[in-house]
Amino acid sequence: MSLHLFRHKPDLMGVLDLQGGVHEHLEHLERLGLPYKRVKQAEDFTNLAGLIIPGGESTCLARLLNIFELKDVMLQHHRRGMKIWGTCAGAILLADKVLGEKACLGLIDMEIERNGFGSQLDSFKSEAVINAVSNDPIPLTFIRAPKIIRVGKDVHVLLQIDDYIAAAESDSILVTVFHPELTGCLALHRYFALKCGLNPAAENRSAVHKNWENSSWMQLARIAS
Ligand code: GLN
Repeated sequence: MSLHLFRHKPDLMGVLDLQGGVHEHLEHLERLGLPYKRVKQAEDFTNLAGLIIPGGESTCLARLLNIFELKDVMLQHHRRGMKIWGTCAGAILLADKVLGEKACLGLIDMEIERNGFGSQLDSFKSEAVINAVSNDPIPLTFIRAPKIIRVGKDVHVLLQIDDYIAAAESDSILVTVFHPELTGCLALHRYFALKCGLNPAAENRSAVHKNWENSSWMQLARIAS
């Protein structure tokens, strides 16, 4: 009998905890009753069915991945089946082409343009239905967001707006240029959990709740709109 039958099936969600919007993703996972851990070092990748790379600053995240020698270990776990979702800066790290710059992880066939909408003050929010994810409109928050300009033939576009792609996926990678973790909406976290073979619960209402409308990024989005 082969050994792999006895291997424990990965059942945790990880959030890369080097820089950026880590806490908000953890809170969303908690609200879905999903077991999770923060990922700061090589050992933390054990038992991960999925990893979320949060938004933040992609140049900073890329440097920290190098400094803490996490890039190869992440690529290895991805090859063994760990799915990865990159939000905003996370999507930039996952792309195999970054306009005018060197790519970092190169795990999805797409070209992305950093700061595609302009500066921090050009941040904005809107909403859209993403058919594959939910029948209800999903709030979208763009903060100094990139634009996905083009995807390869094995990449499925989940949301196209005007001249850019805002969400896309391959078999093992999900990318969104907006920030679902900065809204109260759980639909994309639920979608990613299912992609990873995990079982999100109905919303756990006893988990910490934020007053999303009053959080500082929302005020920024209001000023900018
Ligand atoms: N502009 C940032 C970058 O280029 C991404 C911003 C974000 O993650 N909200 O990395």
